[in-house]
Amino acid sequence: MTNPLLQDFNTNYQTAPFSKINIKHFKPAFEKAIALAKTEIDFIVNNKAKPTFQNTLEELEFTGSKLDRISSIFFNLNSAETNDEIQKIAQEVSPMLSGFANDITLNEKLFQKIKSVYNQKDNLDLNNEQQMLLDKKYKAFVRNGANLNESDKIKLREIDKNLSKLSLQFGENVLAETNGFELVITDKKKLTGLPEGTIEAAKMLAKEKQVEGWVFTLDYPSYIPFMTYANDRDLREKISHAFGSRAFQNNENDNQKIVLQIVNLRHERANLLGYNSHAHYVLEERMAETPNKVTTFLNDLLVKAKPAAKKDFQKIIDLAKKDGIVKMQKWDSTYYAEKLKKDLFNLDDEQLKPYFKLENVINGVFTIAGKLYGLHFKEIFDIDKYHDEVKTYKVTDENDELIAVFYADFFPRKGKRNGAWMTSYKNQWRKDGENSRPHISIVCNFTKPTETKPSLLTFNEVTTLFHEFGHALHGMLANTTYPSLSGTHVYWDFVELPSQIFENWCYQKEALNLFAKHYKTGEVIPMELIKKIKDSSNFLEGMATMRQLSFGLLDMAWHGQNPKEINHVKDFEIKAFSDTQLFPDVKENCMSTAFSHIFQGGYSSGYYSYKWAEVLDADAFEAFQENGIFDKETAAKFKNNILSKGGTEKPMELYKNFRGKKPNANALLKRAGLI
Ligand SMILES: [Zn+2]
Repeated sequence: MTNPLLQDFNTNYQTAPFSKINIKHFKPAFEKAIALAKTEIDFIVNNKAKPTFQNTLEELEFTGSKLDRISSIFFNLNSAETNDEIQKIAQEVSPMLSGFANDITLNEKLFQKIKSVYNQKDNLDLNNEQQMLLDKKYKAFVRNGANLNESDKIKLREIDKNLSKLSLQFGENVLAETNGFELVITDKKKLTGLPEGTIEAAKMLAKEKQVEGWVFTLDYPSYIPFMTYANDRDLREKISHAFGSRAFQNNENDNQKIVLQIVNLRHERANLLGYNSHAHYVLEERMAETPNKVTTFLNDLLVKAKPAAKKDFQKIIDLAKKDGIVKMQKWDSTYYAEKLKKDLFNLDDEQLKPYFKLENVINGVFTIAGKLYGLHFKEIFDIDKYHDEVKTYKVTDENDELIAVFYADFFPRKGKRNGAWMTSYKNQWRKDGENSRPHISIVCNFTKPTETKPSLLTFNEVTTLFHEFGHALHGMLANTTYPSLSGTHVYWDFVELPSQIFENWCYQKEALNLFAKHYKTGEVIPMELIKKIKDSSNFLEGMATMRQLSFGLLDMAWHGQNPKEINHVKDFEIKAFSDTQLFPDVKENCMSTAFSHIFQGGYSSGYYSYKWAEVLDADAFEAFQENGIFDKETAAKFKNNILSKGGTEKPMELYKNFRGKKPNANALLKRAGLI
C-alpha cells in the first residue's frame, strides 16, 4: 500500500494532498521520514572530507525536509481539524519527534564537525545569512546539551520527552473543558440585551445539538458577545465562571499538577544547561536578552499604565452603580465597558458590523497588500484542502511570478482550537537555482454566516484578520536561502512586528474606504464612524494595557525563578497578579491552568513580546504616517529590510536598516493615549 505522505507531492504547486491522506498514514509516514532524515545526517557525519560550511551546515539545513512537511500537515490538522484519533497519534509521535530532535542535537560527531566550522568562522568569508545559520545551528547544539556529559545528556532527553507529553496533555485538557460546557437557555427573556445575530447563532447551535432553545458555548464567537451584551448578570456570572475555571475543577482534565510539573522540568532543564532559570535560557535568543530587561520593560510600562487603568476602572464602577451593582465583578467588566463605550461614543459592534462583511474585509486586505507590495490574490479551486470551508488562493507579484499559496480557514468548528493564528504548510527556500515558494495559512474563529445574514465581523475580528494576515505576509514574502531562517523564523519578540503593524491600516480612512462598505447598500463607512473608531480605539487602554502586563508578569513569575517551593498554582498566581489586578479574585477561577500560550504553545517567558512588538509597530508605522500609508518607497523598505529578510540578520539591525534608527516607546505611549 502506498503512503501519499511519503511520495513526492505531484499536486499543483506541490501542495499537501489532503484528499489522499488517511489518518492511518501518519504514524508510518513519521517513522519512515525520521529514518530517512537519519540517513541524511549519517551521510554528513560519515563524510571523510574536512568539514566546511557547505558540506556540514548547508547540508544539514536541508535534511529532514520530508519530515518537516509531514509534521506541518499533521500538527496543523491537530490544531484546526482534530479528533480523538489525531490526538492519540499526536501523543505517540510527539515523543518520537523530540527523541529524534535530540538524536541530532546530542550527536557528538555531528557537533564536533559543526564546532570545527564554528571555530574558524572569522576566516570563512560568510555572508550575513550564512553567519546567522552557523550561529543558530551551533547554539542549537550547545543549548540542547552538546557540551554535557553522557549521563546529563540522558537526563535532558528524559526531561524533553516528558515536557512534550505534558504540554500536549495541557492543551487537550483545555480543549476538553472548553467543549465540555454549554449553556442552554429556554426562556427567551434571558436573552435580553443580546444582538439579533448572536441569538440566531445560538438558535442554530441548539438545532445542531438537537436541543430546545438557544445554546451558548465557551467558543469566543459565542462567549464574547454573551459577556458583552447579556443583561442577565447571573448568567454572565455562570458562563464567566465556566470559562475561568477551565482545567481547574479537580476532574480528569485538571491542569494544576501539569503546570507545576512543566515549570519544574523547565527549571531543571535550564539548570542542567547552566542557566539560572528557564527565562534566562529563553531570553538569551531574544531581542530583549535578559529577564531583568523584560521585567524592567513591563514594570516601566505598568507605572505609566496604572493611573490610567485605575481611572478607567472607576468609570465602569460608576456606571455599574447606576444599575445597583455595589461590587464590580469580572463578569461585569466587558458588559459595562461596552455600555460606557456606547455612552461615550455611541458606537457598538452592531453598528459597525454591517460594514465589515467577511468577503469585503478579506478583499480589502488583498487590495492593501497589492497597493503596498504589488501582490495579487486569485481564488483557486484546483488544490486539495482539509475542510470544505477552507478557501485557497494563488498569490502572484507584479510580474505574475508565483509568490505563495494561501489558505484561509475562517469559522469555528468542533475540532478547532480557540483563537486565530497563522501557520505554514511549507517554508520558502532557495536551492540549486530554484526559489521554492511557501504555502501559508491563516486559521480563525470568526462569526459564522447564518441563514439570513452573511458573516459580519466585529471590529475586533477585523483587526484580528489584519493581524494574522500581517504574519502571513511575513511568510509569503520570505526571500531567503535557508528555510530555517525564512519568513516568521525570527526571534520571538520580533515576530509580532509584521502582524501588529498591519493592524494600523484598519484605523485609516484611506484604507477603510477600500473595503468597509455596507453589506446591503454598498455605502462606504461614514467619516463619523471612522472618527469614532479612532477615538474609541484608546478607550480603556489603561485597563487593557494593565491586563496584558499582568499576563507578561505572570509568565515571568512562573519562569524567572526556582519554582521548587511553589505548591499551589492558584496561591502563586494571586501573588504574581497582586500589582495588576483591579477585580476581586474569584476563588474557583484560575488563569494559569488554561494559559495555553505559555504552557502549550511556545510563549513561555515570551508573553511580554506582545507589548515589546507594540513598541516596534507603533514606531515603525510612524514611518508610514510620515510618508503616506500607501507610500511605495516606505513599503519597499519595510518589505526589503524586514518582511523578506526573516531571521537572516539580528532584528535590531534589520529594524535600523528600515527605520534609520532604533525603536522608541514614545510612539506607542502617544498612540495609546498614556502620555
Ligand atoms: Zn500574532
